[in-house]
Amino acid sequence: MKNISRSTALFERAKQFIPGGVNSPVRAFKAVGGNPLFIKKAKGAYLYDEDGNEYVDLINSWGPMILGHAYPAVEEAVREALSCSPSFGAPTAREVEMAELICSMIPSVEKVRMVNSGTEATMSAIRVARGFTGRDKIIKMEGCYHGHGDSFLISAGSGALTFGYPDSPGVTKGTALDTLTVPFNDLNAVELLVEKNAGQIAALILEPVVGNMGCVPPAEGYLEGLRKICSKSGIVLIFDEVMTGFRLSQGGAQQLYNVKPDLTTLGKIIGGGLPVGAYGGKREIMDSVSPAGPIYQAGTLSGNPMAMAAGLAMLKHLKDNPGIYDALNGTANFIIQGLQKQISKYRLSCSINHVGSMFTLFFTDKKVIDFASAKTSDTVLFGKYFQAMLSRGVYLAPSQYEALFLSAAIDKTIADRIIQASNESLEEIT
Ligand code: PLP
Repeated sequence: MKNISRSTALFERAKQFIPGGVNSPVRAFKAVGGNPLFIKKAKGAYLYDEDGNEYVDLINSWGPMILGHAYPAVEEAVREALSCSPSFGAPTAREVEMAELICSMIPSVEKVRMVNSGTEATMSAIRVARGFTGRDKIIKMEGCYHGHGDSFLISAGSGALTFGYPDSPGVTKGTALDTLTVPFNDLNAVELLVEKNAGQIAALILEPVVGNMGCVPPAEGYLEGLRKICSKSGIVLIFDEVMTGFRLSQGGAQQLYNVKPDLTTLGKIIGGGLPVGAYGGKREIMDSVSPAGPIYQAGTLSGNPMAMAAGLAMLKHLKDNPGIYDALNGTANFIIQGLQKQISKYRLSCSINHVGSMFTLFFTDKKVIDFASAKTSDTVLFGKYFQAMLSRGVYLAPSQYEALFLSAAIDKTIADRIIQASNESLEEIT
């Protein structure tokens, strides 16, 4: 048993003044039992909690830390930006460089606007789609999570699903009525819905590779099919690449699957670990955003110099080192093959979904292709697995319905450690 007395004491204090003791529900251990760990520092592949325990990190700040923690070039860039004052509220050269870099790496993005979080990016993107098309309704996929904007907390994944409120109280009926949902990976359902609501749908938004009901890849032809339906019906196709952008390839999931959306939302990696988001896409659509056009969207700290400095350092590194994606994929394959061996040996009811450096071990014998199949997972067993892994020094997302993220700091020795911890954990819990 690890000593986590300082984390436990901090959690007790936190609960007095912070709802549930955490500033984002996904950090709570409510679904897996026990108290959340309070993290003091991190370096490379490792997290260190307040009690000095070390953990291999498979969350990586829910995606951004693709190079590992405290990456020297990122750290240096932030220090330099801080020394010039953390914020001006006026345009900076770094914002121009960031926009140019994003547009050069994601060809469907011809113009881009920086915001402060993934939630802001998706909220803004659907407003722009609505303003541009003059239509009100949007389509989202059951189990996809697009941040905590009202329009998206309908059949939502991630923490909303983990804690049993995929449709959050507080979202007005009117807003909920404008969000239509269909199962992920079901083209037929989209066709029928579009037909039924002809001329009323502004946007279709989805995670092209879902991370927020666990990792769920698109079926063959699914993204192409959505592209065709949207083009035919004048619907703005939005790929929410807050998770997958710059993680699955330099050009995100859209490059991997070779399908171009009209708008793309970004976050996580483009801030190098600092708060950030962005949305961008076709020039004709983005030119309707204020002050170029009438659709209003703004932000006091948007394009913040420190966030831009961190994000630029990270994106430049990814652009200059394209081999990083093959390396990450190789590490993921190595770990997953190691897990598969144990699963087949014990004939466990588990299935693993994997795209690039994102993967999820689902405790179900079903192939997970959508919300319904993800929900067949045994979350109690997952909770036991989580605890067993944690006690062996491997920090997983504390929910069955999340993807795990690898970083480039995970080498063969660390990958072996993950496999061994998982083998021992599976043996312990089954
Ligand atoms: N979109 C996706 C796909 C996400 O995974 C997330 C967060 O995890 C968001 C949007 C919201 O981003 P943020 O938490 O930065 O608001």
